[in-house]
Formats: sequence, structure tokens, C-alpha cells
Amino acid sequence: MEDCLFCKIIRGEIPSEKVYEDELVYAFKDINPKAPVHLLIIPKKHYPTLNDLPDEEMDIIAHIHKVVKKLAAEFGVAESGYRTLVNTNKEGGQVIFHLHYHLIGGRQLRA
Ligand code: AMP
Repeated sequence: MEDCLFCKIIRGEIPSEKVYEDELVYAFKDINPKAPVHLLIIPKKHYPTLNDLPDEEMDIIAHIHKVVKKLAAEFGVAESGYRTLVNTNKEGGQVIFHLHYHLIGGRQLRA
């Protein structure tokens, strides 16, 4: 999508610290990390929110979770523990309207 920040990151128009990429997803370091490990995993296809993901395209969520699992191991938090998080719409705390998963770890997280 033309004006979407994360689409621009995928296209390389805005710099990012890429940690993984394949034909379906792109993953990079959060610019304002809430923990020692804070990664964002995003589908390359633009969905503004989880609400916009059609049921028949839900396989992308399984794929994102495979990437989360791989990155958690690579970044050394698989055993110590980590959190995956999707914020949806305003009251959910969503700021960037391109579906994304946070992977947060490397310190004790509270509920
Ligand atoms: P959310 O509140 O779930 O929409 O989260 C958006 C996340 O994107 C926040 O954690 C921001 O720190 C992060 N973010 C915003 N701009 C950038 C950027 N240019 N590169 C990396 N992360 C970003």
C-alpha cells in the first residue's frame, strides 16, 4: 500500500534492521524496543488490522508463528521466555495499521 510505513519498509524505501525475510513475511527490529529483544514480524501483503485478514488467508498466521519460533531460538529467548502480541485498532493500542506481530523477550515481562 502506497502510504503505509511498513509497506515502505518492505519495499526498502525506509531503512530497517531486517532479521528475516521470505516470500510471505518480513521481520525487523522494533525502533523503540520495550525489551532487549523486540522484533516485528509482518506479512508482506497489506492487511490494516487482524480484522481485515480473510478467513481463507489465515494460513499466514501459522506461517508467522513458524517465523516467531525460529527467531525466538535465534535471539536466545526460546527457553527463557518471550511474548507474542498483536494490537488491534485504537483501544488495542495499534499505532501502525499494517498487521504485525511483536516478539518481545530478554527480560522478565509482567502481565
Ligand atoms: P503497534 O502499537 O502495535 O501498532 O506497534 C507499532 C510498533 O512499530 C511500535 O512498537 C513502534 O516502536 C514500531 N515502529 C514504528 N516505526 C518503526 C520503524 N520505522 N521501524 C521499526 N519499528 C517501528
